Amino acid sequence: MLIGVPKEIKNHEYRVGLTPAAVKEFVQHSHQVWVETQAGHSIGFTDEHYIEAGAEIIDSAAKIFAKADMIVKVKEPQANECKMLRPGQTLYTYLHLAPDPIQTQLLVESGATCIAYETVTDNRNTLPLLAPMSEVAGRMSVQAGAHYLEKAQGGSGTLLGGVPGVAPGKVVVIGGGVVGLNAAKMAMGIGADVTILDRSLNRLRELDDIFEGRLATVFSTAESIEYYTSRADLVIGAVLVPGAAAPKLLNREHIKKMKPGSVVVDVAIDQGGCFETSRATTHQDPVYIIDDVVHYCVANMPGGVARTSTMALNNATLPFGLALANKGPKQAMLDDPHLLNGLNVHQGKVTYKAVVDALGKEL
Ligand code: NAD
Repeated sequence: MLIGVPKEIKNHEYRVGLTPAAVKEFVQHSHQVWVETQAGHSIGFTDEHYIEAGAEIIDSAAKIFAKADMIVKVKEPQANECKMLRPGQTLYTYLHLAPDPIQTQLLVESGATCIAYETVTDNRNTLPLLAPMSEVAGRMSVQAGAHYLEKAQGGSGTLLGGVPGVAPGKVVVIGGGVVGLNAAKMAMGIGADVTILDRSLNRLRELDDIFEGRLATVFSTAESIEYYTSRADLVIGAVLVPGAAAPKLLNREHIKKMKPGSVVVDVAIDQGGCFETSRATTHQDPVYIIDDVVHYCVANMPGGVARTSTMALNNATLPFGLALANKGPKQAMLDDPHLLNGLNVHQGKVTYKAVVDALGKEL
């Protein structure tokens, strides 16, 4: 199979669909890989690295779209990319179609087979191609929070780890899923005083086991959230209610009661945010201050560490990508119901129920 990797064209997107290491795997399985020139350049994957891995460097995306059997990307295709897709071709990337009727229509019109990373499942009932980005965002949330606690960044001037003789800063993580677990690991690692809240008692039991009681696990109620956040230096919003907008767990009155110079990092901002005062920000302009509380609400946090994110994403996408290439998309999906769950658009029809429900397209 000929696999094509165009350079990402969305604003400030530096990730790339395949790393040179992943290219090598496809080549070892007797596939041909075309990579657009400079596709990984800004994160240290040069054209020479791709050539060494066995890829051919192509000077334009149009040539790749015209010939490749499967296109591997990171972000949803932009309108001009959708228009280059064609029947019989497979697109393997993040799509997020439910809130995006224009892209959905263009993919339907393309006739291509479009597999969305975010809806591929696994045996544990989780989303294996979303998890790496949650791991990245969770770990980054503490790094970002620690930075904005510095005085010059608008924070209270608190060092999360403290020093001998000075107590550590207090970190409160709301939501103990993939993001929350990774945030807690980082916060524990730098010596902060960590409390994690979740509505799932089973999840709190797991977290208590993982950290062997070294952090506080608290059942999440309006009262417990208000109590712990009012004493916190850093609050990380990491909740998810599948298929729904994030619940608003802190309102403006709660934010007013927080310590001056404290920081909230609303990781759930991509689902609307879990604090009433949150609005999406960018890596170029990541924070704003309301009632003396610094708000960091970057909607695509993994894009800020594009090299690590690309490698983490490839680790998760590669096995499915190889199955698609080795067996052909049809057989690969017939053999693996989890990969089949990734199928969102096929031969001019929307094939994923949640997208149909959201947009009213025929199945
Ligand atoms: P997850 O499903 O693994 O975990 C979510 C947790 O929230 C679950 O344990 C659930 O029990 C808990 N929860 C739900 N309602 C709660 C409540 N009221 N109080 C306390 N806990 C509650 O999800 P995840 O992968 O950790 O993702 C968390 C959020 O981060 C999602 O909104 C996701 O879209 C977002 N995210 C954002 C970025 C970014 O760049 N901003 C990157 C990755 C993930």
